[in-house]
Amino acid sequence: GSRLKGKTAVITAAAQGMGRAAALAFAVEGARVIATDIALDKMADLAGVPGIETERLDVTDPAAIAAFAAAHPDVNVLFNCAGFVHNGTILDCTEDEFDFAVSLNVRSMYRLTRALLPAMIARGGGSIINMASVASSIIGAPNRFIYGTTKAAVIGLTKSIAADFVAKGIRCNAICPGTIESPSLEDRMRALGDYDEARKMFLARQPMGRLGRPEEVAMLVVYLASDESSLTTGHAHVIDGGWTNT
Ligand code: NAD
Repeated sequence: GSRLKGKTAVITAAAQGMGRAAALAFAVEGARVIATDIALDKMADLAGVPGIETERLDVTDPAAIAAFAAAHPDVNVLFNCAGFVHNGTILDCTEDEFDFAVSLNVRSMYRLTRALLPAMIARGGGSIINMASVASSIIGAPNRFIYGTTKAAVIGLTKSIAADFVAKGIRCNAICPGTIESPSLEDRMRALGDYDEARKMFLARQPMGRLGRPEEVAMLVVYLASDESSLTTGHAHVIDGGWTNT
């Protein structure tokens, strides 16, 4: 395909899950992809894919982000995908866990977008896609206190950037997946104690009777990254197999 031909795209948390799926889908559509993650070793195979370059980037590290932005003045697409799921209610959430989640899930997007946006504007525009979740301002999901708090903030951050830079050719959208198969989802189901029971619980709330696949989400990200989505900005795009359609 050539839907992203001529575009340079940066993806965070590209080693696994939806970030990885997006990196592969972007490359298929002709983008030059800079796939980043803290786990460079887990991207060894991605580095061999035509169109994909890999780089270590910790989105909680301001100095690393500054160096990254200086090295890449030619970015057209930014997919802020990095995020962490804390399990529990407000009573389970410590100050340290709160700070960690805000830094990784939200402030990371502030940091990287702020660093890359001036060059994007100078080059005439670009598309920023931020990973939120339906567990945000859309629904309150059980045991997702700090997660939902941070993902709601991602939607606010997205809308604000979209409003401020719409006249500069910048589009900024959030995506809100439901429950998607990924390595960290497997970890979360195992961590709940009874894996089969946990899986059943996640499946029970899926009207389609199945979880989502990272590749399905990647197709939405391709659309938002491409010029096909030229009329949409500032919105939270839900992709959840019908979970929140109640
Ligand atoms: P995942 O959680 O399995 O992988 C996350 C990746 O993030 C890992 O490769 C990890 O190395 C990387 N990472 C962790 N800390 C980092 C840091 N400081 N800097 C850079 N990278 C870092 O993948 P996933 O489940 O597809 O989740 C990706 C995003 O999607 C997250 O923001 C998550 O909250 C969100 N999300 C997931 C689901 C789901 O059901 N899986 C649903 C909605 C939203």
